[in-house]
Amino acid sequence: MARYTGPVCKLCRREGEKLFLKGERCMTEKCAFTRRPYAPGQHGQARVKHSEYALRLREKQKVRRIYGVLERQFRIYFHRASRMKGGTGEQMLQLLERRLDSAVQRIGFGSTRSEARQLVKHNHVLVNGKRVNIPSYIIRVGDKIELHEKSRKLKMVELGMSLATRRTPPGWMEIDAGNFSAVIKSNPIREELNEPAIREQYIVEYYSR
Ligand code: SF4
Repeated sequence: MARYTGPVCKLCRREGEKLFLKGERCMTEKCAFTRRPYAPGQHGQARVKHSEYALRLREKQKVRRIYGVLERQFRIYFHRASRMKGGTGEQMLQLLERRLDSAVQRIGFGSTRSEARQLVKHNHVLVNGKRVNIPSYIIRVGDKIELHEKSRKLKMVELGMSLATRRTPPGWMEIDAGNFSAVIKSNPIREELNEPAIREQYIVEYYSR
């Protein structure tokens, strides 16, 4: 599946908030949004009043960018969520969070979702003892995710794990950092998926127009 390969800090500046796409750098003074908190481009500093439509479009783009998913696949998640029990917006966020690359980043094997995605694609991650190299693989309750023994000394992993110790671990997984593994205890709940703040209702309204 294709992915966005352009400059990521521009995405934060376009959305007008930090999306935390660069791991450690996002916490420092080097953050491009901290230095230039306005949209990129010639008219980036112009005052713009967003229409109701634009607000919804931007919310959808923001979430898509946080999870590194292109439009086609994002729309598939929306339609899948709309057929599930419960609120469509919440179910969609849950599906995004249950992607293997996202879970791997939450555990701390990579400091960003793109690093986590690379670890998955390059066969470093096992699910229930078997190698899985599909970043969009949806994990289930009871699954055990672990890093292959040979991959545990990677610089990317060391950095990711040290960053993970500085944030609250997700309540929906039991992480065993010593053994580079985690077991999924439950599906993620909405309250845990709000960094940065997401208005999923806007996305539902965007696709229901
Ligand atoms: Fe770049 Fe991270 Fe700052 Fe976003 S939050 S602008 S990705 S450094």
